[in-house]
Amino acid sequence: MSDCYSSGPTDIPFQLINSVPIQVCQTVWVDDPVPPGTGGGSTSNVINDVINNLTSPCFINVLHNVNSGTLQNQVSKILKDIFNQTDKLNVRFYEDKLDDKIDGDTNASPVVSNGVTTLNIDITLNNKLITTFHSSQEYIAATILHEVLHAYFRAKGSNPLVDHNDMGLFYIDNMAGGIKEVFPGISDDDARALSWGGVQESYAWAQLIKNSPTNANKIIDTNQKYRTSASGTKCN
Ligand SMILES: [Zn+2]
Repeated sequence: MSDCYSSGPTDIPFQLINSVPIQVCQTVWVDDPVPPGTGGGSTSNVINDVINNLTSPCFINVLHNVNSGTLQNQVSKILKDIFNQTDKLNVRFYEDKLDDKIDGDTNASPVVSNGVTTLNIDITLNNKLITTFHSSQEYIAATILHEVLHAYFRAKGSNPLVDHNDMGLFYIDNMAGGIKEVFPGISDDDARALSWGGVQESYAWAQLIKNSPTNANKIIDTNQKYRTSASGTKCN
């Protein structure tokens, strides 16, 4: 499927929906739901344990909640059913000082050993969310879910340039469901708004701005409030 965007990634933002062939390609990529309980064993990149190198108690706590055993939302199931299972995919969580505007970062690097390829996917959370911005737990959970989706796309081998388009088109409800499952008290609107965090460079967001600018502004405002704990559950 790597030739889906051979016409050039710069074409992507405004052709996803308007172009039938590209939309078909998009569907092929995304219609690959996490097979419950199978560990995603059909691909060569099957993931190993979730490795937690976080040090901030709030990050550790929120990751634990997002990755806890009984959750049924799709993103948590990705963690449990794919990344927690087998040997050839590792997701490792780190934290570091990143640029102020970046909440998290995900990088994948394949390692070949004895002819076996292991894909290490490293998720780094910006610890300024804790130290500088005093972000809410809901915001941190949304950031983790967002980065886990990036990791999932790397595991599937899809083109990183379309990650945010895929999220905006297909995963907002899933992310909102995940946030609500971890924080049952949050409103539907706020959970959805947090799911849009970091998805602004996407076709779906461009459409939202065009069709409902008031709603788009409210989403940005909600994200700001949760990022600074003006809304949501404080870390301490
Ligand atoms: Zn992202």
